Amino acid sequence: MEKKKIPTHILTASLLCVFVLVMVVVLAIEFRSQKTEEPIYKGAGVTDVLHLSDYLPSLKGTSADTEIYVLDSGVPGASMLVLGGTHPNEPSGYISAVMLVESCQPQCGTLYVIPRANNSAFTCTDPQEASPMRFTITTAGGDRSFRFGSRATNPIDQWPDNEVYVHASSGQTLSGSETRNLNRAYPGRADGNLTERTAYAITEFIKDKKVTITVDLHEASPEYTTVNAIVAHEDSLELAQTAMMFELEGCMKITVERSPQNLHGLTHRELGDFTDTLALLMETANASQGRLHGATSSELVTTGADKFYYRAGQYGALTVAYPESGIGIDERCARHITSLKAFADYYMGDAGVLDLGEIPSYSEIIANGIGAYLASPQS
Ligand SMILES: [Zn+2]
Repeated sequence: MEKKKIPTHILTASLLCVFVLVMVVVLAIEFRSQKTEEPIYKGAGVTDVLHLSDYLPSLKGTSADTEIYVLDSGVPGASMLVLGGTHPNEPSGYISAVMLVESCQPQCGTLYVIPRANNSAFTCTDPQEASPMRFTITTAGGDRSFRFGSRATNPIDQWPDNEVYVHASSGQTLSGSETRNLNRAYPGRADGNLTERTAYAITEFIKDKKVTITVDLHEASPEYTTVNAIVAHEDSLELAQTAMMFELEGCMKITVERSPQNLHGLTHRELGDFTDTLALLMETANASQGRLHGATSSELVTTGADKFYYRAGQYGALTVAYPESGIGIDERCARHITSLKAFADYYMGDAGVLDLGEIPSYSEIIANGIGAYLASPQS
């Protein structure tokens, strides 16, 4: 009997189905791997670890719950909260916060650090950006890998976005995609969406601990107007200007901008309005976030070296001077850390003294690399 041949089109379709199924499995495993948190090692200064869910129990068990590291010197004084990872695609804020947890030892007052303020946004990258999922920092004891996340809460955790986002306490309307932006959700709502609940828990923490100064660490594209800048609520303007005049100007070019009163949902506006904290936000220049760079890679995230940004700088199209060698993560972290120390040093209010202890200087961080101040990878 003659054997029947499988028609070519059925064979091709079957092979394509198998190929698609294999790709789905491979990509799903890769996508899920971004949920695995890289370790943050508690340094000698850490005295306690709290969670956002301590301030809003409905966050417990959600991907928004995250650690609040407490570094209490044991000597009464002022306090500072550092927010890293509000936008996990702005890695110098995250890495600076991790560095404080791992190596800061305050001598007077208390430092609080939330390295992954929008924890959910660390579990995905932004669509259509071809961003790397991770980048590497070299420490004294070897390389450490960190996730490069998204600007917004993972849509798997909060979906769908409305066409228009209405900020709850002001009624301000923005594009629907801003519904998942933590820095448009403050002061937040206890019964709101996951992003609003995250903002609410942070606001409640600040009220409960009577945090003296809150600094939210960010990055922006080099062509953005607010970059290498401190944005200050009107109550914290004097602190920002004093710190800049007496300490920061000597080592780096930085500007101070007043928080606009009609732009709602941001830390430097709402935390200043709804709590007694002195609210400040920092921006450094991150080429991997911008619109003008070439191929996105983990090297671009850390070195900032990009021939198109260099050329744009030559044409005067950028807000900051852009060297051929790039603006690397060491310099960006050095800016954040030097500014945090200056805010602590120049605070003169009723809460008393805040002494963050031995903090490497701007030039030391650039010379040795930020990895020199991170813990070595531990098994
Ligand atoms: Zn940001």
